[in-house]
Amino acid sequence: MMSLWDDREVDAYHGPLAQQVYASRLLGRDHSLVLHGGGNTSVKLRERNIFGDQEEILYVKGSGWDLETIEPAGFAPVRLERVLRLASLERLSDAQMVQELRAARTDPSAPTPSVETILHALLPYAFVDHTHADALLAITNTSDGARRVGEIYGDSVVTMPYVMPGFDLARVVAQRFPREAGRQTIGMVLLGHGLFSFGESAREAYERMIELVSRAEAYLQARGAWAIELSAAPPSTRPSRAELANLRRQVSEAAGHPVILSAHTDARSLAFAQRADLAVISQQGPATPDHVIRTRRVAQLGRDVSRFRADYERYFAEHAAKSEQPLQMLDPAPRVILDPDLGVMTAGTSAREADVAFDVYAHTIDIVLRATALGGYQALPANDIFAVEYWDLEQAKLRRSGDAPVYAGEVALITGAASGIGKAAVDAFLRRGAAVVGLDVNPGVCAMLGDRTDFLGLECDVTSAEAVEAALDAAARAFGGLDMLVLNAGIFPSSRRIEALPIDEWRRVMQVNLDANLLLLGACHGLLKCAPRAGRVVVIGSKNVPAPGPGAAAYSASKAALSQLARVAALEWGVDGIRVNVLHPNAVFDTGIWTENILRSRAESYGLSVEEYRKNNVLRVEVTSRDVAELAAEMCGPLFAKTTGAQVPVDGGNERVI
Ligand code: ZN
Repeated sequence: MMSLWDDREVDAYHGPLAQQVYASRLLGRDHSLVLHGGGNTSVKLRERNIFGDQEEILYVKGSGWDLETIEPAGFAPVRLERVLRLASLERLSDAQMVQELRAARTDPSAPTPSVETILHALLPYAFVDHTHADALLAITNTSDGARRVGEIYGDSVVTMPYVMPGFDLARVVAQRFPREAGRQTIGMVLLGHGLFSFGESAREAYERMIELVSRAEAYLQARGAWAIELSAAPPSTRPSRAELANLRRQVSEAAGHPVILSAHTDARSLAFAQRADLAVISQQGPATPDHVIRTRRVAQLGRDVSRFRADYERYFAEHAAKSEQPLQMLDPAPRVILDPDLGVMTAGTSAREADVAFDVYAHTIDIVLRATALGGYQALPANDIFAVEYWDLEQAKLRRSGDAPVYAGEVALITGAASGIGKAAVDAFLRRGAAVVGLDVNPGVCAMLGDRTDFLGLECDVTSAEAVEAALDAAARAFGGLDMLVLNAGIFPSSRRIEALPIDEWRRVMQVNLDANLLLLGACHGLLKCAPRAGRVVVIGSKNVPAPGPGAAAYSASKAALSQLARVAALEWGVDGIRVNVLHPNAVFDTGIWTENILRSRAESYGLSVEEYRKNNVLRVEVTSRDVAELAAEMCGPLFAKTTGAQVPVDGGNERVI
């Protein structure tokens, strides 16, 4: 591990706090040191208060901030003397500690100080960094971790036994650190938890962290326990998307709400999930306690969710019985599932949460394999992990996200997603918390939204059965299944009278606007049937169904047949709880099919100017893609929970329809 400190970059950071911001970001950027809000840093400064008195102020990472992206405002300034006195108390409840730390801030609008604030205050160094470095955890999470730490670091670090983070840990450090530290001390190892480094400058503390982690890496390298090669056998059977959807449904049932289930079948994930010793090494516990809120204590092995659930309930009952306060069981659903054919699957109430669980578990795999190579991975006992899992201050991290959006944990698939109504629908469903799969013949759909984790854009010609199959397989691997389907892709050929309409053009319109949707409905039925809250389909029809226009025979006939297909689907699938409704938009001109030419020729066929044609409806309003997309999104929601087989116009009112 190399220091990334760059004096040219640091020039932009004036003053000690800014330099600690810079160092924190360097630490946060390396995910083998800290992950997703883990770790914390601080700096102690002397400042003049409003009365002109000098005061020692501890700037410590605020909870809710991530080291990778932290800013000066992410550090909470607290009065050092007041925080230090807290360590002299015999007892301090979590609620009292949080209240006291908040009260010790010099700026009430600053974030809540980290739960490790008292510990940072106690360490007699200006700059303090704390990480959960993979390399160190691979060493401490072995049966003789303490001896190995002594061998690697000698007296350059103080080693602490595992103690529950927060006030208890601060008390132990308050008693032991002054006795054990000396001039040679540059850091502190917390067994089963992580690593601290100290310095008189941001650079010194940071570079000591790098040095300490590098020594751990060198130790692992020297014992052939650093780069662990894994080779995966090809999966014995290729699991079907129905199997994935069924698994997702069971996990959702256990969770009490729909979840995203992401399968990771990269070579390393597969190889880990295929290891012969998996039942031992994956059932020890997390590498550092705060990972428990992302991954649960252990992963589920194979596809039996009911067994995981029963094991979790037993684990809760056993440890809750020893708790001083009554505890409410969290949902008993797994967050990580290991399967020889499906690799590493992770679950979350959003694609982002499932992704975070995978990131954490990918590092757990590295740590477990390295510790195994050293002689055996050994995590903390279950009761220590349970205490952190049910620690209110950890659960607060998950609660911070607030109320779940309406489609949290659900998946929507939208065709014709690269433009017009489809693109607006992608946005409408994402804003409502769904993960979205967007299909389009235009390859631009793939990179349409950058690399956000909750959108999968796939180039797909929906008239090709193979292309649709491949897209649905990819959707199931990415998110676990399908809850909502918006059939939007369609073509609108230029205006032609029947006697001039070639059969090939007629067939092409039928193929895209009708046949492709039959194909999609058929291919999606199994997934929709498996949706935790029952499937929903919205079909984008057309005003041309109730009120056809001259010159649009193929289009009108295709949309009429599509509407009839949707009505039959509503009849056939009602028994599965799947709702199928049709929207009839009219004159939505900001879509891909409306070129200037088509617009002009349609206007002419009604004897109107283009401007008149745009607002040619009862309300004299323009109907936009967004209007249609928002209604499509709402039709999948609770407002329409008891509506199926409906045909709803979104056209500003049409005299020929009303
Ligand atoms: Zn920690």
